[in-house]
Amino acid sequence: MITVEHLTKYYGSFLAVDNISFEINEGHVYGFLGPNGAGKSTTMNIMTGCLSATSGHVRIDGHDIFDEPDQAKKLIGYLPEHPPLYLNESPLEYLRFVGEAKGLHGAELQNQIDDVLQKTGTAAVKNRRIANLSKGYRQRVGIAQALLGSPKVIILDEPTVGLDPLQIIEIRDLIKELGRTHTVIFSSHILSEVQTICDQILMIAKGRLVAFDTPANLEKRLLAPNEVRLTTDAAPDELRHILAKVPAISQLTVDPDTGKWTTAHISTDRDDIYELSRAIYQAFVPGDKAILEMALKKGTLEDVFIELTESEKPAAAARPKAGRKAAKPAAGRPGPQTGGDPAEGKEA
Ligand code: ADP
Ligand code: MG
Repeated sequence: MITVEHLTKYYGSFLAVDNISFEINEGHVYGFLGPNGAGKSTTMNIMTGCLSATSGHVRIDGHDIFDEPDQAKKLIGYLPEHPPLYLNESPLEYLRFVGEAKGLHGAELQNQIDDVLQKTGTAAVKNRRIANLSKGYRQRVGIAQALLGSPKVIILDEPTVGLDPLQIIEIRDLIKELGRTHTVIFSSHILSEVQTICDQILMIAKGRLVAFDTPANLEKRLLAPNEVRLTTDAAPDELRHILAKVPAISQLTVDPDTGKWTTAHISTDRDDIYELSRAIYQAFVPGDKAILEMALKKGTLEDVFIELTESEKPAAAARPKAGRKAAKPAAGRPGPQTGGDPAEGKEA
């Protein structure tokens, strides 16, 4: 569907996009994830034919965006980071203007406008001045114009930036909805957002593609297969006493006493995490203390991101062996919030 090959962009002597290559297939939702200044907008502007590249190629369904811009651009709907909305117009007038620019007219234009107003939930505000709409509605109008012309691919640059939490949820739902009928590429600096909406994540840092994988696989990269987290009703001193019988433990950190349960982080420098888990379990058997939870320590997407962006190594970084969860939380006494909770990115 979209092929990007060795894309490079210099602004003067500043390298903003550094030899990026990837392929986008039809029918998925892709997330460009990266901190501000990573090169997301630059890449999107080049992919949509709004900006020239220094070198490299972008092909949309085989059409080169620079050599055959008309054919290629027809296949793409784009919501730029700063959409050029005309504040004195109504959404209806604006969509008519954009639709005509995309070569639509007559009944076809009217049908498509009705369709995109309905899809984006903007029909009720179609006659208001855009200046009087909330940022959430303006963003919807921006998405509506991207949908005109029935493009196969929708590219949205940071569509949730500047929205309030409720509007963010609504726009995320809209993106998911669009993903059923379109190939969607959107950019974000919010990990949790990309994690919940996308099938595939492209992590971009300092102009380079540092990872391209599913959210689940990216998380797997960060399993720490030599550490378990244990929660028990034993008090910290009792726990230390119990675990003194486990020679495989190389490091033990006990969280502050909650008065109800104790959580400890237990590492081994032996390779066998399963042996460690069994030995911990055995150490509990003779006593009357319970294991409420024992789980393999799992990294979050945020950890992957920090590791990948800090290491500055290309995407092919080695993957640690994927581990299994060591144990299920025990039933009974109400335990702590359990589970490998997914990363909540900073919504700043
Ligand atoms: P992102 O969208 O990931 O925040 P951008 O693609 O906007 O990143 O920017 C990538 C880098 O290129 C940033 O360091 C930015 O300052 C720089 N940059 C962007 N546009 C220009 C420009 N027109 N001239 C010079 N530098 C630019
Ligand atoms: Mg940007």
